[in-house]
Amino acid sequence: MAHISGSHRSQLLLLPEAVDDYVGADNPVRFIEAFVDGLDLAAAGFARVLPKATGRPGYDPADLLKLYVYGYLNRVRSSRRLEAETHRNVEVIWLLRHLKPDFKTIADFRRDNRAAFRPVFREFVLLCRQLDLFGRELLAVDGMRIKAVNNKDCNFTRGALAEFIRRADEKLADYLRRLDDSDVQDERAGGTVGRGEDKLKEKIAAIQGKRHRHKAMLAELERTGEDQVSLTDPDSRAMARMTKVGVGYNVQLAVDVKHKLIVEQEVCNRVLDMGLLAPTVEAAMATLGVDRIEAVADKGYFKIEEVEACEKAGITAYLPKPVRGPAVRKGFFTKEAFRFEPDKNVYTCPAGQTLSPCRRGRSRDNVKIDYANPAACKACALRPRCTNTYRHVSRLENEAVLDRMAARLAARPDILDHRRETVEHPFGTIKQWMGQCAFLMRRLENVRGEFSLTALAYNIRRAITLVGLPDLIAAARA
Ligand code: SF4
Repeated sequence: MAHISGSHRSQLLLLPEAVDDYVGADNPVRFIEAFVDGLDLAAAGFARVLPKATGRPGYDPADLLKLYVYGYLNRVRSSRRLEAETHRNVEVIWLLRHLKPDFKTIADFRRDNRAAFRPVFREFVLLCRQLDLFGRELLAVDGMRIKAVNNKDCNFTRGALAEFIRRADEKLADYLRRLDDSDVQDERAGGTVGRGEDKLKEKIAAIQGKRHRHKAMLAELERTGEDQVSLTDPDSRAMARMTKVGVGYNVQLAVDVKHKLIVEQEVCNRVLDMGLLAPTVEAAMATLGVDRIEAVADKGYFKIEEVEACEKAGITAYLPKPVRGPAVRKGFFTKEAFRFEPDKNVYTCPAGQTLSPCRRGRSRDNVKIDYANPAACKACALRPRCTNTYRHVSRLENEAVLDRMAARLAARPDILDHRRETVEHPFGTIKQWMGQCAFLMRRLENVRGEFSLTALAYNIRRAITLVGLPDLIAAARA
């Protein structure tokens, strides 16, 4: 018995099938079509929404946007690969109605409309809100680092530049000394020594050239006040990624815990997360249409000014306090072992002694008060576990805001696990399943556009899983 065989490739079909027959009713491209057709692309900021009256007709931005949304949903992000898909992928042929833009047109569209992808992401979040996919009560916030188009060798910090210049000076001094020695030997030998001199001179010239370039970069850093310079993508920064340091961008996500959908995303080049919680959650609140919300993040965001800003903006923040400081390093009692009594304005120490205010000072922008009881420490049996001389405990004048947050966290210890489970879903999906471990474009504004498409694709896939394609298409058409 023979195997099942297909039609002969050169056979003409009597009734050619329509492309529509290849795309089932449950194909996500049908949602992409409905969603993009329902957008006001001019309001979103897309260029050339209205065709020019004269000249060669251009592509409709709606078609190119559909191509990009399809690409990001299917792990095809490069313009050359997207062009290839327009020739061979029946879903793309259906979506673009046989249009075949070249890779340059596709790439130019992404670059020229980079700022418009963010409103498109937001429109989809609003669609999810209509479908009641957000709990609008608790947001999990976290940042992830995504690699930039910039090798680590093309990034220089002030410290690295100063160190290179120091070493270059040492090497130059050594080479020049060796050059002088060889001149003396050459003279003594009547000009027969010195075949290695040319090589030495070449090395000196190379080091001097490199030193000059590093010196210029250091001078530029001094002028701009920046801490580092990246040569390939000037906006990218060296930042910690897990245990390694890579050159990339900091991507902030605010994820609603109900269904792990991304409400707000922002790419920046700040090395630390500190100071990014309140702005990220405030933007998410505006999209969700709420004036109060809870937000949980990790200790990387812990900063008293941040917690205060959250309280003012109607955000109930949950941030674990990092355990650090000289007492921790020396293995002494941490501050948590000392109980503050607000009515009396004193601390009670582990030995039950009272520590009273003894000194006022400043810690950055905050007033700091030190509490101590030297007489009690002198006779204390616990002193080896507490201090070398006498112990003082510092408290910021506005630290009550941290006490309130600590009490909230103590009442809901599970909220930190909830945060991790929530944010790991988009992070894992984006990096592992969608394969976005590195940006394709350079410069901050471009990567912001790129990540808006990534976050949109993540949300679309999640919403399809949650409500199903027919309901999503119906909502997009409504
Ligand atoms: S050393 Fe001082 S602060 Fe520490 S436990 Fe003893 S009395 Fe209290």
